[in-house]
Amino acid sequence: MELITYPFVETFAGIQGEGTFMGMGATFIRLAGCNLRCAWCDTTHSFDVDRARRLTVNELLQECSLTQPLVVITGGEPTLYNLQPLVTAIHKLDKRVAIETNGTNPIPAEWDIDWVTASPKPGSNYAINCRPNELKYVVDDRLSVTDIAADRVPPGHVYLQIESCRPESARKAYKMVVEYPELKLRVGIQLHKILGVE
Ligand code: SF4
Repeated sequence: MELITYPFVETFAGIQGEGTFMGMGATFIRLAGCNLRCAWCDTTHSFDVDRARRLTVNELLQECSLTQPLVVITGGEPTLYNLQPLVTAIHKLDKRVAIETNGTNPIPAEWDIDWVTASPKPGSNYAINCRPNELKYVVDDRLSVTDIAADRVPPGHVYLQIESCRPESARKAYKMVVEYPELKLRVGIQLHKILGVE
């Protein structure tokens, strides 16, 4: 059987700064490669799959300081790879596994991921082809209320993420929450940036 390897970019321990688990200690694992090229992407260093080290599950976990209760697999776009072996190994360490995805790829149920955060991207890339637990939308000039797929997650699990603490973004998020109460939106912040611990 072929041994699965993952293109590894980096790992670090910190806090989950966004969404439902905001403030919780988390170990982040970033994998390389993405199927999108968003203009504002702040993780472009994860694009180059060829330059990333290919690590087996055991090698990857040895790189990580798995001291935190939550492990967040992010990218890039981590659903480009079969995550089942990695998630199974992390579960054996009694940690919960969350994933951050752009939502464009299906996530098989057998991967057994505990929490899926999808951040749909503007334009045609707003497709959501997985079953997320929560949605995060960056509130920029392009975001329209018609883009928000609140029916895809339980009520109260859509976060309007303020873009880089911009006041215009904050005002727009605030207005959307107040003007569309039926969508049960929430304003989302980046706690790690506010605390200055990113
Ligand atoms: S989906 Fe995420 S990682 Fe990929 S290009 Fe867009 S912002 Fe960057």
